[in-house]
Formats: sequence, C-alpha cells, structure tokens
Amino acid sequence: MYDTIIIGAGPAGITAGIYAKRGNLETLIIHNGESALQRTKNIENYYGFIGGISGDKLYFNGIKQAENLGIDVKNEEVIKIEFKDNGYNIVTNIKTYSTKSVILATGIKKNAPKIKGIKEFEGKGISYCAICDGFFYKNKTVAVVGSGNYAVSEANDLINIVSKLIILTNGAEKPEIRGENVEINSKPIKEFEGNDKIEKIEFNDGTNLPIDGVFIAQGTADSSDFARKLGIMLNDNKIKVDENMETNISGIFACGDCIGGTLQISKAVNDGMIAGLSVIQYVKKL
Ligand SMILES: Cc1cc2nc3c(=O)[nH]c(=O)nc-3n(C[C@H](O)[C@H](O)[C@H](O)COP(=O)(O)OP(=O)(O)OC[C@H]3O[C@@H](n4cnc5c(N)ncnc54)[C@H](O)[C@@H]3O)c2cc1C
Repeated sequence: MYDTIIIGAGPAGITAGIYAKRGNLETLIIHNGESALQRTKNIENYYGFIGGISGDKLYFNGIKQAENLGIDVKNEEVIKIEFKDNGYNIVTNIKTYSTKSVILATGIKKNAPKIKGIKEFEGKGISYCAICDGFFYKNKTVAVVGSGNYAVSEANDLINIVSKLIILTNGAEKPEIRGENVEINSKPIKEFEGNDKIEKIEFNDGTNLPIDGVFIAQGTADSSDFARKLGIMLNDNKIKVDENMETNISGIFACGDCIGGTLQISKAVNDGMIAGLSVIQYVKKL
C-alpha cells in the first residue's frame, strides 16, 4: 500500500511528489501524458530559465526529477477512485493500487464536449456521474457520451440499472463493451433537446433519438469527475480545498489548476508544495 498516490505529473503533482517523497512517504505518481504544459511552446515567465523553456521539456524534466528521487511514476489512465477500509483504491486502465491518501493534480479538462443544450439540461437529464445518478434511470433508456476507458467504466455502472444503454461516440471510434442492452452509435451529435428536461438527441444527419437521460464521459476523467463520485465539494467545477490543500474528504488533497485560481505554473508549484507537506502530516498521524 502506498502512503500517497498523486494523480497528475504536471508542476502541481510533481512538486507534491517531491515533498512527499522527501518526507519519507511511499509515493506513486500516475499520469496519462497530457498536461497543459504540452500546449505551451515556450514558457518565459517561470523562474530560472533564461530565454524560456518548452512546455514539453519542462513536463518530462519534472517526471525525470521525480523518478531520480525514487518516486514510482506510471503512465496510466486513472478511471476511478474508490473508498476502502483504511484508505483508497485507485483504479487505472491497467491495474488497481491502494493508498492511504490521494492528491488530485489533474489540471483542467480540455476535452469537455461542446454540444448545444448541454448546459441547459445539466441536472435536468444530463449528468456527469453514473454512480451518483444512475439509480434515477432504473429501467429507462439512457446514453453515455464518450468512447474511451472512462466512458466504458461509466457505462458499466449503468448497464444493470437501465433497460437500454446507448453509447454515443459522437464521431469517435467505437469502444469495446458488451451487454445485451447495449448499443453503440457513432453519429456526430448536433444538440440535446427537450422542455423541462431532456427528451431527445438530434444528430448532424437529421435523425434523432428519444432519451430519458444522458451521462457525459468524454475523454479522460478529471478531478471534478472523481470529486462528484466521492462527495468532494466543488465550486464551479473546481475542487474546494482549505489552506492545507485538503478537501472535505479526509485524506484527499488537491492542488494546481484543478482547484482554480490563477492558472500558472508558479501557482501550481506552490499548491503542490503545500499539498505535499500536508500529506506528510496526515500520514504521520494515521
Ligand atoms: C496554451 C497554454 C499556455 C500556457 N502558458 C503558460 C505560461 O507561459 N506560463 C505559465 O506559468 N503557465 C502557462 N500555462 C498554464 C500552465 O500550463 C498550467 O497552469 C499548469 O500546467 C498547471 O499545472 P497542473 O499540475 O495543475 O496541471 P497539468 O500541467 O495540466 O497536469 C495535469 C496532469 O494530470 C494528469 N491527468 C489528468 N487526468 C488524468 C487521469 N484521468 N489519469 C491519469 N493522469 C491524469 C495529466 O496526464 C498531467 O500529468 C499555459 C497553459 C496553456 C493551456
């Protein structure tokens, strides 16, 4: 069992990992290789790099630095975080790891679908958490929007509750999933329609699909997806933390872009440092 598992290897996650490891915690960092840093050609406002540094280089330097310290770093996709007796299970696309504490440092989601009607029907048939809201759709027809590991995981949480489950890949490749009541539809989605609640999905080709509920699970899960399932408080989709970067759930910390504020490397590093120091205190007291 790890003392702490950090989800994210950007400036926040790596800094948290460095402090945690130097505080003697058995530390694992899991990342899927996609950080906001990699969308940055040259970073010129971060301390210590004359002429700047490319985002990609800074990202992989951070990972190397963590590995050199003896931190386990895995390139996997985290799909779920589950409560267990004395900590948490972190479920990835490869395996399940157990830990006494968790630091969320997933940055901000960049692949949220922009489909007309999505905001309008949030809470009125559009949901972001199968385990939280699936029960409301007992014996109904629901859709999951997405095509990756996370969409499959959300679909699996719904299969035994709903009467019919349609996976809408929205133009992306079809995922591997089987079930008697499962259908896969890869038509690009035009918009969600309804009155007081969602009633149907319009596709670009002019056809439509009557629906009782829709679960959004496009791309990879981020901190806000994990938060909804664990009961972590959110503020405008950002994780709420106290001055120690601890969430309202004991043993779960968060840092960097996923907690909001100024979305910059210097701030992510500061948050990561606080989260790393706080998690040491937390684990020591267990
Ligand atoms: C185009 C652009 C330009 C920018 N330019 C600058 C700049 O010049 N200066 C500056 O200071 N800041 C800049 N920023 C902002 C800066 O990149 C971010 O503030 C910073 O990277 C945030 O760090 P973070 O560690 O919170 O998140 P990120 O760096 O985004 O890291 C997130 C980590 O979480 C991992 N992750 C997410 N979900 C999962 C999952 N389900 N499973 C496993 N791993 C997961 C990712 O793989 C990644 O390792 C820029 C951002 C962008 C988009």
